Amino acid sequence: KPYIANENRYEKMQYRRCGKSGIKLPLLSLGLWHNFGDNDNFENARNLLRTGFDNGITHFDLANNYGPPYGTAEKNFGKIFKEDFKKYRDELIISTKAGWDMWPGPYGNFGSRKYLIASLDQSLERMGLDYVDIFYHHRPDPETPLEETMGALDQIVRQGKALYVGISQYSAEDTQKASKILKELGTPFLIHQPRYNMMDRWVEDGLLDTLEHIGIGSIVFSPLEQGILTSKYLGGIPEDSRAATEGSYLDKSQITEEVVDQIKQLNAIAEDRGQSLAQMAVAWLLKDHRVTSVLVGVSRVSQLEDNIEAINNISFSEAELKKIDSILKF
Ligand code: NDP
Repeated sequence: KPYIANENRYEKMQYRRCGKSGIKLPLLSLGLWHNFGDNDNFENARNLLRTGFDNGITHFDLANNYGPPYGTAEKNFGKIFKEDFKKYRDELIISTKAGWDMWPGPYGNFGSRKYLIASLDQSLERMGLDYVDIFYHHRPDPETPLEETMGALDQIVRQGKALYVGISQYSAEDTQKASKILKELGTPFLIHQPRYNMMDRWVEDGLLDTLEHIGIGSIVFSPLEQGILTSKYLGGIPEDSRAATEGSYLDKSQITEEVVDQIKQLNAIAEDRGQSLAQMAVAWLLKDHRVTSVLVGVSRVSQLEDNIEAINNISFSEAELKKIDSILKF
């Protein structure tokens, strides 16, 4: 039966301004890296998007090569979009990216103008969209001049194929350089998408300061360290988990005894706060106003519902923060 969005969808979610732009993003956004490919359950994927939007999650994040196979997350999203979300297009921020390997040969990877422009055209076709709200260069390319890559982002906006642009995983220094080029071109540079969570804090070493200085927002990926910062691995490795999935970027070997011991201690702090560990991990990121949105992945509706509740308690005492740092050896 046709999807009708929950009419109370904007009551619970909170929104943060993305840098100095006109855009506000939900505190939680939904990423389609996993669980939306052709090997995944289509009805589950649909329910994840519906549950997100019903709870005020107005931002869905994709990339050209999400699947597997590459392209299928966009294709499946396109099917669901057409049936469920077309009428809500103007309530949604949809993003995609190019920068990692997508098609064979020298023009389907990294950061050339040739690659970025062709890739976005393909993405729009797969998703059945006229434009995306944000188009990202997915990773820095050490060999292509930054002027060329940024020039491609600028052209994409001028073609009307993206409203804003972003970059992902660029260092503070490269972000500064990219910002300068985009400013000169007059390109709407909205956002940076870095990896950030309690265990991976590289952004604290200059990037977040740089973003604030430039006036752009951030949306942080792998906030749960791909599931490690939840209660799921406390009692072993469940068969249906990402760590048990062949070919995923989370390997069983990463769930060491030391890690399990850390998760146990973190879980105890979360319990004292009246939160699940996943909620505490999300809240820990949101305590910093320079983090505009936390980009979660979820394999089932219950996880999304769990994570959304994080926004009810995002403040930490000094003692809690110190304890978390000492457990994780920061
Ligand atoms: P997370 O760190 O949020 O990990 C998601 C996984 O954690 C889920 O698939 C699920 O694993 C588990 N999980 C989530 N919520 C819960 C919960 N409440 N309880 C128990 N387990 C839970 O993020 P991702 O690594 O998936 O990244 C999120 C998004 O970030 C991606 O979809 C993508 O959009 C973006 N991204 C961007 C990158 C870039 O280079 N710019 C790189 C990587 C991601 P399980 O399957 O085991 O149930």
